[in-house]
Amino acid sequence: MLGIYIHIPFCESKCNYCAFNSFVAKEEEKEKYLDVLIEDISFFAKNNKRRVDTIYIGGGTPSLLNVKQFERLAKAIMDNFVIEKNYEFTIEANPNSLTEEKLKSYINLGVNRLSIGVQSLNDNSLKFVGRRHNSAEALEKIKLAKKYIKNISCDLLIGLPTTSCAEYLSALNTLIAYGVTHISSYMLQVEDGTLLKEMVIKNPKLLPDDDSCADIYQKMVEFLKKKNFQRYEISNFALKGFESKHNIKYWTGEEYIGFGLSAHSYIGGVRWSCADRLSDFYAHKKGMEEIIGDKEKIEEHIMLGLRCFNGIDLSYLCKLNYNIKNNAFFKEYLQKGILIEKGENKVVLNPDYYSVNNLIITNLLP
Ligand code: SF4
Repeated sequence: MLGIYIHIPFCESKCNYCAFNSFVAKEEEKEKYLDVLIEDISFFAKNNKRRVDTIYIGGGTPSLLNVKQFERLAKAIMDNFVIEKNYEFTIEANPNSLTEEKLKSYINLGVNRLSIGVQSLNDNSLKFVGRRHNSAEALEKIKLAKKYIKNISCDLLIGLPTTSCAEYLSALNTLIAYGVTHISSYMLQVEDGTLLKEMVIKNPKLLPDDDSCADIYQKMVEFLKKKNFQRYEISNFALKGFESKHNIKYWTGEEYIGFGLSAHSYIGGVRWSCADRLSDFYAHKKGMEEIIGDKEKIEEHIMLGLRCFNGIDLSYLCKLNYNIKNNAFFKEYLQKGILIEKGENKVVLNPDYYSVNNLIITNLLP
């Protein structure tokens, strides 16, 4: 079943580490952007209202849309798609722009999942990465959001120099106590063109090394497991039944349509993106387009399958003319318990080896 992704690129300021397509914009810009976005949505659905079961509004900071703007967008989605009964509708929010008024409009228009950019509950760390909220505000907004929405995910950054392992675990404990049902925990990346990159060039020892990050990650995994949060993808943990249906689509090769700046789509074996530059987006220009052939399908299946609970389907690979059983690393990994057989035709990555998944994936490619 098709999923919808909508990109809202606006932010109140740029965080130090951020390489996403996001920027600060005036109200007129937001209105203009929404106009084009809604035109694109209507154009896509012109002759065929597709059935969808997941909607994901990400960014940027979608909670920067005011109530009227969000209502326009939600109405465009509802008017142009047939929404399945058991749908999932997620919106991303940052603590400082989330209000009770917005939460009410979200639930009135069908939102049933909220993803909050908490990133840390350590105020020094929040300052370090240039976030605008503090920990007290993050917790206050989670508490408020829980009054309206049961399914709440929080993003946390690993690899911050000012947060100890004990503080990470304490943050998880607090978030769980506040009723969070899903945690996405990402490693802080040093991306080109960011302020963080300049800081690291000036001080190469600024960030903790890979080993200490891997150690913290492993302790977080163990802690979350004890709290009944299952890891269903390398960076994603959820209570049973609260896994992100939308993100699972990306990891299992299902189809999705993306609207908005740089948004990607994958339908009928073709992947394409909307334009990266605002002026091109306003002119309805496309970004890239590629046909996903057998080689790409094999690579993606191995890469995504080993990152999440789904694993690799050996018969699917055979259909694409790749008998992975002939790969020497595959045999070795099975013998050593790095890969685990799951039924007759499936293998999954042993969770103990998630931190070295990139190397394993590379060795298993044709
Ligand atoms: S709020 Fe998110 S998208 Fe916006 S600048 Fe910060 S990290 Fe980037």
